[in-house]
Amino acid sequence: MSAPQGSDLPFLPFALPEIGEEEIAEVVDTLRSGWVTTGPKARKFEQAFTEFLGEPEIECIAVNSATAGLHLALEAIGVGPGDEVITTTHTFTATAEVVRYLGADVVLVDIDPATLNIDPALIEAAITPRTKAIVPVHYAGLAADMLTILDIARRHGLRVVEDAAHALPTTLEKELIGTMGSDATVFSFYANKTMTTGEGGMLVTRNPKIAARAKVMRLHGINRDAFDRFTAKVPSWYYEIVAPGFKYNLTDIAAALGLHQLKRLKGFQARREQIAQAYHEAFADLPLILPPQPVEGDTHSWHLYVLRLADECAVERDAFIEQMFARGIGCSVHYIPLHLQPYWRERYQLTPEQFPHSQKAYERTFSIPLYTAMTDADVQRVIAAVREIALR
Ligand SMILES: *Cc1c(COP(=O)(O)O)cnc(C)c1O
Repeated sequence: MSAPQGSDLPFLPFALPEIGEEEIAEVVDTLRSGWVTTGPKARKFEQAFTEFLGEPEIECIAVNSATAGLHLALEAIGVGPGDEVITTTHTFTATAEVVRYLGADVVLVDIDPATLNIDPALIEAAITPRTKAIVPVHYAGLAADMLTILDIARRHGLRVVEDAAHALPTTLEKELIGTMGSDATVFSFYANKTMTTGEGGMLVTRNPKIAARAKVMRLHGINRDAFDRFTAKVPSWYYEIVAPGFKYNLTDIAAALGLHQLKRLKGFQARREQIAQAYHEAFADLPLILPPQPVEGDTHSWHLYVLRLADECAVERDAFIEQMFARGIGCSVHYIPLHLQPYWRERYQLTPEQFPHSQKAYERTFSIPLYTAMTDADVQRVIAAVREIALR
C-alpha cells in the first residue's frame, strides 16, 4: 500500500469558527467595561437580530444555547406531561431531549429521502389526540417543507417550533427562516454553526405571550413587569418570582462575538455557497449523491455538506471517512439517528425498520469540511481526496 496522499500537510479539521479582530476587540471592550454578564450588548444583539430578520414585530430572546431556546419555546407553548411532540429521527438529540425535560413524549418520524428533512406525510400519520406540537429541523441548512407543515398544524390545531440550528441564513419562498409563521424558531451559535458566540442561541417569535413567558423563564422566573403594572416607580432591588425558571441568559461576552458575527453573516453565507458550488461541480461525475439544492432564488445556509454514497459506489461509508482521515481531512456523520441511540431506542422500542430512509442515509452519508475559514487550497485538497477515494 502506498503512503496516503497529502498526509504531510497539516490536519484539516472538520469545522473551525472564523473569529476576526472586531469580535476580539468587542470582547476585550466588554471585559474592560465591567459588565460581563447579560446587559447592554446582549440587548443590542437581540435588536440587531430583529433587524436582520427584517420584521420589527419579531421579538428575539438571546439564550445560552439553542437547546435552552427550544426548551423555553416548548415550555412557553405549554408542552407538558401527557403531550406528544413530533420530530425527525434524523437530528441531534437536543431537538428531542427538551421534550423529555417537560415530561412529554417524543414521537419520531422518518425523513424524505431526497432532502433528508422530516416527511410531512409521516407527521400527519403520527398525529394522535395527545399531539401538541411539531418540531421540524432544517437539515444541513435546507428549509424543511414549512408550507405543508404549517398547513398540517393549522388543520389539526397544533403548535410549531422550528429547530433552526442549521438554518442561518436559510430562505423558503424567499422568506427567511425565523419569519415563516410558526410559533417560535430557535437558532444556534454553537462553535461549529454558521455564526458563533462560543455557546449561544436565539429564540425568535411574533407571539408576545411566548416572548414574555420565555423572557421570564430564561432568568429564574423573575418578573419585573408584575410590579410595574401597579407602581410607577420600581426600586432597582425589587423583583418577583412567578415560576421556577431556568438559568439560560446569554452573557455580554458572548453577545459581543455575536454582534460582529451577525454583521458578517451574509459574507459568510456567500463563501459557504461558493465552496458548496465548487464541490457540486467537482463531484458531479462521481458515484455519489450530492446534497439537494434549494429552488431558484432561495438560500441554503450550507451549514453542512452531506455526501451520500450511491449504491454503485465501491467504498463503504466508514472506509471512506477513514481514508479521508488518512489524507489529513476530518469528516463527520450527521446524524447517528435518534432511533439507534440507546435512550431513545429503549424508551420507545424503536427499530431501524420503522425509519428506512433515515437508516439508509445514516449508513451511506458523511459530511465533509465546509466553513469560511477554509482556503481555496483547502477546498481543492478536499476535492482531490474525495475524487481519489470515490474513483478507486
Ligand atoms: C447544534 C444543534 C442543536 C443544539 O444547539 P446548541 O446551541 O448547541 O444547544 C440543536 N439542534 C440541532 C439540529 C443542532 O445541530
